[in-house]
Amino acid sequence: MTEKACRECHKLTIGATCPRCKNASLSDDFSGLVVILDPGESEIAKVMKIDEKGRYALRVR
Ligand SMILES: [Zn+2]
Repeated sequence: MTEKACRECHKLTIGATCPRCKNASLSDDFSGLVVILDPGESEIAKVMKIDEKGRYALRVR
């Protein structure tokens, strides 16, 4: 299974829809990978407006 990235929130998933925002608009053309373990303590999470731990793509086309 290849991972795809949600175009809305950039979360990575192997499913057909985003588990976070239920968006079905996924892209396999993404670059960069960010792992958020503690959203409240992560500067990257704040910049990317991520409030849930998980794996995210930096850029999604
Ligand atoms: Zn999403």
